[in-house]
Formats: sequence, structure tokens, C-alpha cells
Amino acid sequence: MMRLFICTICTFFGVLTAAQAQEKFSGENYVLVIHGGAGSMSPNRIKGEVEAAYVAKLTEALKAGYAKIKNGESSVEAVIAAIEVMEDSPLFNAGKGAVFTHNGKNELDASIMDGKTRMAGAVAGITTVKNPIKAARAVMEKSGHVMLTGKGAEIFAESAGLEIVSPEYFWTQHRWDALQKILKRDSTKVELDHDEKQTFVPTVKNLDEKYGTVGAVARDKNGNLAAGTSTGGMMNKKYGRVGDSPIIGAGNYANDQVAISCTGWGEFFIRTAAAYNVSAQMKHLNRSVQEAAQKAIDEIGELGGTGGIIALDKDGKVAVPYNTKGMYRGAVKANGEIEVAIF
Ligand code: ASP
Repeated sequence: MMRLFICTICTFFGVLTAAQAQEKFSGENYVLVIHGGAGSMSPNRIKGEVEAAYVAKLTEALKAGYAKIKNGESSVEAVIAAIEVMEDSPLFNAGKGAVFTHNGKNELDASIMDGKTRMAGAVAGITTVKNPIKAARAVMEKSGHVMLTGKGAEIFAESAGLEIVSPEYFWTQHRWDALQKILKRDSTKVELDHDEKQTFVPTVKNLDEKYGTVGAVARDKNGNLAAGTSTGGMMNKKYGRVGDSPIIGAGNYANDQVAISCTGWGEFFIRTAAAYNVSAQMKHLNRSVQEAAQKAIDEIGELGGTGGIIALDKDGKVAVPYNTKGMYRGAVKANGEIEVAIF
């Protein structure tokens, strides 16, 4: 039977220590871990029906991915299934809920990596593919390349038989209103989807929240790992900006030891090769997944960056460090036990 634990513990300041954040995801035998973005959300505001909506969607994503693992399917299938649920929800900054660029468009990035083969695929700046994570997978499996961008990626995705939508599909009122506000405040400021204005009180209908990149890391019955990440990027981004999410080694990475997906201020994750940083520390310094992921976040923090990492190692151990107030996250063990936490 599937059991569900919702963890909403927080410290006096609403920020967990690394140990507290890790506490709820300790032990072994995890098969799937997901995130829905890290940010400066506060427990005073993400509560009631808003919190319930996030918990429900994260749980749905975990169940979708877990069903694949349980069925003996690959970690790649589990990652795709979990991410698809979050991409189809307006709650997250990925797929349907993507933030807007400075020019009022939704430009989506995604990547996937199969730890067994170390094959990888990514798309950047796409506007018409309903599920960017599936486009990333098609690039990995059918293109002979690792990353395709813009129009070329869209033409390829269509030829691979993926569902194509009009760019308007990605238009949502709450993201549009959020862009108008930032344009009024400071039209040159590139805003992370992690910064929360103190005056805003979210409701389910008025989700002006700007965090929500999604990711998943999975371990299948054969012990093979995979990682996937999908995002709308940073609100008000300009000039064809590409973040860390579609960059293998920065926002996403997997091999036969560990799978990693990141969320946060992408430029810092690129500059520190954050996802590969976790793997490299484990391989060369013999660090545990928790130590390595924490050090990777610390390095980002030292440079002034913010965000979070989810990582799952070959033994089913999990790390979920972040240096923001919270990170939407969840995990499921081999026995189907689900944990979801925001703070
Ligand atoms: N990392 C993403 C980017 O910089 C944003 C996020 O995680 O919310 O594009």
C-alpha cells in the first residue's frame, strides 16, 4: 500500500538547516525523487489550498513515475512520466506553466540523461512542443545530437511524432500578470522565478509565484539511473537566453553512480558545472551523495547564487540540499512510500 507523508516542518525563520532539509529523505531504497523548483516562498504564504495543490500535484507526479518503476520499466520512462505530469500543470515553471520572456513569449528548455549509456538529449528555446522533456528524449534517442535549439528543435520534434501546440497553449494569466508587474517595476531586471515579492499573497487562482522548474531522478529495478529537468527559464529573460536546465553537466546529469537535477539561478549552475560537480566529488573524492550535493550548493552560494539540487545514487540514497527558503520536492521508496515537502 502506498503511504504518504507530508512534511511542512520549518524553523523559526522559515529556513531549514541542511540537516533538517535532509532529515525527511534519509535512508536507502529510494527509486524516484522529484523537484518543482526552489525559491524564497514562505510558509506563511504557501499554505492552505495553495500548499494542498502543490502537494497533490507532486504526489501525482511521484505516482506516475513510480508506476513505471514498479512495472519494471526503465528509469528514463519513470523520469519522463513524472516530469510530464508537472509540465502539464500550470503550477510549475515548465510546460504549461512556463514564465514569459521579456518579449511576452514562452521559451522552454529541457534535458534528459540516461545514466546507463550516458546518452543525453536537450532542447532549448522551443515554443510549440507540448512536453519539452519528450523532445529532449527524442533528441537523445533519434537525432544523433545532444542539443537542438529553437525552430530546428521544433521541426525535429514534430518529425519525431510529438504533440505540437500553438504557442498560446503556454499562455497563463498568472504568469502574464507577473511579467507585467516586473516590466512596470524594472523592465531591465531579469527576474528569477525564485524571488517572491513580500506584498503578494498567492491563491490557487492567482499564482504569481515565479519558482517551479521541474526535475526528476530515478533508479529502476536493474539499478540504472536517469535524470531529467524541464523549465520555462527565468521570467523577463532576453536575447535568446538559455539557462542551466538543458545543459548537461550544469542543470542535469546522470551516470552509473548518481543522477542529478538542479533548480535555481541558472547562470550560477552553469558556472559551477553544478550537476557534474556532484558526480565528480563522488567519483574523485569518494564523497557521499549528500556531502557532494551540499558542497555543490555551497559553492553556488559562495558566488551569490541560489537554488537547490536533487540527487539519487546507485544505492537509493537521496540528497535534497537547497539554499533558498524552500524547495518543492518529493520522493518515493521501492516499497511505494511517498514523502513530499516544501520547507
Ligand atoms: N534553473 C532555471 C534557469 O535558470 C530556473 C529555475 O530553476 O527556476 O533557467
